[in-house]
Amino acid sequence: MAVQPYDPENIFAKILRGEIPCGKVYEDDHVLAFNDINPQAPTHVLVIPKGAYASFDEFSAKASDAEIVAFNRAVGKIARDLNVAEDGYRLIANTRQNGRQDVPHLHVHIIGGKMLGLMLPKE
Ligand code: 5GP
Repeated sequence: MAVQPYDPENIFAKILRGEIPCGKVYEDDHVLAFNDINPQAPTHVLVIPKGAYASFDEFSAKASDAEIVAFNRAVGKIARDLNVAEDGYRLIANTRQNGRQDVPHLHVHIIGGKMLGLMLPKE
């Protein structure tokens, strides 16, 4: 199946353009991070690149070294700054149909602040 082109009307693209507000927790030249609107744990932050990438595989193939470094550094910094690094947290990047991705702009969930459940529910 062909990968769909990036949809510039997705919700995170609108947040990046300032058309929808967000609870910003971090921003630099390449990265924005904000609180999830429907948190699944005391800490639930979404980290997104500012560039138009739908998935991690697309990002890793097409983004510049500067974007990739900034994104990776930001994820770790935010985890430290939100004080979840010591006790632990989970990174999730749901991807496309099988990964149940709802918003087609790459985002890493940083989830922590409590003991989390199993990584995947038993089916
Ligand atoms: P996905 O299922 O694509 O991995 O996760 C999308 C996430 O985006 C969900 O956790 C959902 O709660 C969050 N979300 C959806 N719309 C908005 C919004 O308008 N603002 C914020 N801050 N989060 C959103």
